[in-house]
Amino acid sequence: MTIYADNAATTRMSQTAINAMLPYMGEIYGNPSSLHTIGQKANEALTEARERVAKCFNCEPREILFTSGGSEADNQAIVSAARIGEKKGKKHIISTKFEHHAVLHTLAKLEKEGFEVTLLDVHENGIVTPEEVAAAIRPDTCLVTIMYANNEIGSIQPIPEIGAVCREKGVLFHTDAVQAAGHLHIDVQAQNIDMLSLSAHKFHGPKGTGVLYAKKTIPLTNIIEGGAQERGKRGGTENIPGIMACAAALEEACANIDKNAAHLIPLRDKLIAGLEEIPHSILNGDRVHRLPSNVNFCFEAIEGESLLLLLDDKGICASSGSACTSGSLDPSHVLLAIGRIHDVAHGSLRLSLGEDITEEQVDYMIQAVKDVVSYLRSMSPVWRDLQEGKREYVLK
Ligand SMILES: *Cc1c(COP(=O)(O)O)cnc(C)c1O
Repeated sequence: MTIYADNAATTRMSQTAINAMLPYMGEIYGNPSSLHTIGQKANEALTEARERVAKCFNCEPREILFTSGGSEADNQAIVSAARIGEKKGKKHIISTKFEHHAVLHTLAKLEKEGFEVTLLDVHENGIVTPEEVAAAIRPDTCLVTIMYANNEIGSIQPIPEIGAVCREKGVLFHTDAVQAAGHLHIDVQAQNIDMLSLSAHKFHGPKGTGVLYAKKTIPLTNIIEGGAQERGKRGGTENIPGIMACAAALEEACANIDKNAAHLIPLRDKLIAGLEEIPHSILNGDRVHRLPSNVNFCFEAIEGESLLLLLDDKGICASSGSACTSGSLDPSHVLLAIGRIHDVAHGSLRLSLGEDITEEQVDYMIQAVKDVVSYLRSMSPVWRDLQEGKREYVLK
């Protein structure tokens, strides 16, 4: 049995998405900027994809910009807001400590340019409150950027309320919605969102295709200079096969949000309940305001890497949190942000479920994790010290 439980890292392309891209790799291979028939067919497809994506978020087609992925969309949103702010002498940006590195590293770059960045603390449940955002806004704040749902611990932020605070104070609001798009209902107008990033490969579309939604009144700054594609805001021949597959995957995902959640939530909660039976373990992230697919735990006296390798031997593809930090010895910045100490943060496990997960697979995963944790602890000197009372447990 192989169980892929790493859907927060990437998803398998759906057949719908594959079918949507094939004609544009075959007979309709034109460059949308070309004036001949094959080019114009590609251009029509681009227009159609933009309309279909816009519909999913209740915005206008001209507010949709296709990018190379979530990272590029995050970069462009943040840099654009910074350039707008700079012109008005506003060089303060608010974000949180547990954003994706596409956001955090872009902010670090702006700090070197003289911007001031406030990274808000995150509560232990992985949530930032609108009141905390409101309190951090200053007269010189040009941007608030807060992720919709966290990629490691699955916590969902009060986005409409944070958006309302920003709107009231006249500050631009961007959200990295890469984990949320296609999984949660998003309406940029009703939820007061000025800019939003998403990535197709997180909802069964292809890798290397993303979207930046930006309200039409926001002048964007180019990250990729080149031709006049994307209304002059992103150079480079459009990835038509990827864009068509992105639109198809997004439509399919959005049409199935409620059905998928109804299937996933009881199985997610069964998995959580099963893993909570493991002594000296803790669930990371909020129990209720949580992505339907996300389960994330810390286990005391466990090395996350060993846990992953042994689970892989049992056919379970999991993650210790973030694909980006694996291979490094630093514990996850997300787990540190919610207050886990280094030793505990090292013993983390993320299982991000696919929509086709079955109860039998959940039962298998519970047993497998229990067995592997017991096995690793039986060989751990730290565990022995804890058992003999020579060390204090951190997790009760
Ligand atoms: C995956 C991810 C990204 C990066 O998207 P890419 O398309 O891989 O560049 C950004 N933010 C979050 C929250 C993500 O999960």
